[in-house]
Parts: sequence; structure tokens; C-alpha cells
Amino acid sequence: MFSASVTIFSRCVKPGSSFARTIATTRPRLTEDPDEPITLNENPYAKPQPKCILCEHKIELDYKNPRLLQQFVSTFSGRVYERHVTGLCTKQHKRLLETIALSRRAGYMPIFVKDPKYLNDPKLFDPLKPLTPHSYA
Ligand SMILES: [Zn+2]
Repeated sequence: MFSASVTIFSRCVKPGSSFARTIATTRPRLTEDPDEPITLNENPYAKPQPKCILCEHKIELDYKNPRLLQQFVSTFSGRVYERHVTGLCTKQHKRLLETIALSRRAGYMPIFVKDPKYLNDPKLFDPLKPLTPHSYA
């Protein structure tokens, strides 16, 4: 009777979840001392590390791909959006600036404006709602 209820209960618990880990850590301890506090090795409430859009999808920046690079360029000023707008990590933002400079020197992208061909491309982020407010604002 008891084992059947345990199997049904274990089917309800998602394997790998924090609750399953808690059960796994508490089971052997019940035989030792039930009143002993439980020590967990990792924080069950820890949030997953946020990743930028290029790291998340493992997108390689290429200077011969102006369509992707133009999505990080402002429609109005032709300048590259900053990190607080794009949400890129420091490494990818630096790489983006280098790639855009190389692409502009190679003639794949216009320098002062966004190419009108790519004006209707889908937006990766909303420049009017930055992730964090700008330090000068
Ligand atoms: Zn990143």
C-alpha cells in the first residue's frame, strides 16, 4: 500500500525539479534523524542566468550579413544602439561594433543612415522602451 502511493507520488514530481531534489536529499536523512535540518548544495530558487539574444541562439556575426547588422542600427540617426537598449552582453556588443565597422568599410552597409531596404524588418527590441534607463536621462 505504502509503496504504491509512493510510486504514484513520484510520477507527479517532475524529475530534475527542485522539489524532486529536496525529496532525494530528505529520503536518506529520515532514517538517521527526522529533526535534523536539511542542507541543500544549491539554491532551489535561483533564477536561470539571463542570456543576450546572440548568445542564446548562438548567432555568429558576419560582416557580409548586413541584414542582421542593420537591426542594431537606429532608423533615425543611423547609429548603433547601445547595450541598455539591445540587451547584448559586453563581449557581443564589442564584437557587433567591430563587425559593423568592418561591414561599413567593406561597403556592405551605409555609414550615416539605415539602409531603406531593411526598414520593414522585424524588430529585435523596442528602442523606446530600453531595458535599463540611460545614465544621462
Ligand atoms: Zn551574450
